[in-house]
Amino acid sequence: MVFTASFFSSAFGPLEDDRTGKPKIASNILFKPDRVFDGETLHEGWGVLVKGEKIEAVGPAANLRSAEADVIDLKGMTLLPGLIEGHSHLLLHPYNETTWDDQVLKEPRAYRIARATVHARNTLRAGFTTVRDLGTEGADYDDVGLKQAIDQGIIPGPRMIVATRALIATGSYAPKGFSPDVDVPQGAEEADGHDRLIQAVRRQIGKGADVIKVYADYRWGLMSEARPTFTLDELKLIVEVARSSGRPTVAHATTVEGMRRAILAGCETIEHGDGGTPEIFALMKEHATALCPTVAAGDATSQYRGWKKGVEPEPERIRNKRISFKQALEAGVKICFGGDVGVFAHGDNARELEMLVDYGMKPLEALRSATSVNADVFHLTDRGRIRPGLLADLVAVEGDPTKSIGAIRKVRMVVKSGEIIKP
Ligand SMILES: [Zn+2]
Repeated sequence: MVFTASFFSSAFGPLEDDRTGKPKIASNILFKPDRVFDGETLHEGWGVLVKGEKIEAVGPAANLRSAEADVIDLKGMTLLPGLIEGHSHLLLHPYNETTWDDQVLKEPRAYRIARATVHARNTLRAGFTTVRDLGTEGADYDDVGLKQAIDQGIIPGPRMIVATRALIATGSYAPKGFSPDVDVPQGAEEADGHDRLIQAVRRQIGKGADVIKVYADYRWGLMSEARPTFTLDELKLIVEVARSSGRPTVAHATTVEGMRRAILAGCETIEHGDGGTPEIFALMKEHATALCPTVAAGDATSQYRGWKKGVEPEPERIRNKRISFKQALEAGVKICFGGDVGVFAHGDNARELEMLVDYGMKPLEALRSATSVNADVFHLTDRGRIRPGLLADLVAVEGDPTKSIGAIRKVRMVVKSGEIIKP
């Protein structure tokens, strides 16, 4: 079934308010798909009743009271909770369009924000109603304003959890390779040591950070290899200061030692984790640290560097990532869904879901990661599942993505806060 603008117009009146462009509120709607994935399990023949911005009821469609509801038939479709992207950078665009260095150093901030508004819209239209945006990469606190514009309905976009600038140890991050005689703006905030770190964490929180992101290692070794940055004590301090305000700390880490320190310090998720070993993944399991593997990012950058996927054998980096990801699964580490989208195109977030399946997860497990697991790991108690009382953030796709993950790209309808967004 194909929805058209005229279908929505006849069902709900004009889709958008002319002045604000904000979708009109649709209240009391009974959605009747073929099946419902509730964030944990698949139910054939279920329906979902939405009242205002919340889910009112879910269960066998025949049992749902529809007397005062508009009924929307979603024949052939699966209805899922709005998907939660765990690792985005709405202020970045693909590196094969413009290198990361040039985005940070040469693009005007207004240009980056203009692009970000389009990225936000494309993300929402792809069925991702929440993003955890892990750093503006040189655009200071612009994620805070972007989030406000979305929350106020000025522009369409997903709900945002923002990290603002992110924290880096002095000298460790990028852009690098310039004359030591000039100070080059960095893609995140440099801070070190007791007082400076406390100030930086509190400043980021004060300016709107929902989560603190640290780079526990980065490519600054003698051979440009990744090496740990912050000491264990520095990481513990960051976590302690963030936690006392009720905020989690998450860590970029790709090395064994960077991951070990981040885990022991109490960081709640490890981003990337490429160099993980069975011992490190056992430690993650023990400390209930989740892994956000970002497999799509490595897949994308390898191709930007010339790898012809499907024609040439997989580069060493990809082969190693397959091995370490499998080790993480075998260790029982909780897997977040998050692709590092921005490295590749916003709206193409499903690429990570397809790759998680390609790398060894079952479609149902990958879909849990993108819904209930991410909600739990990110402390979002109001979404991530289709349950009475939760936000009516929903996505309808053609077919059954629990059987064939590719169906997740066939988005036919997106609902945010009970408002129907045009696909
Ligand atoms: Zn990232």
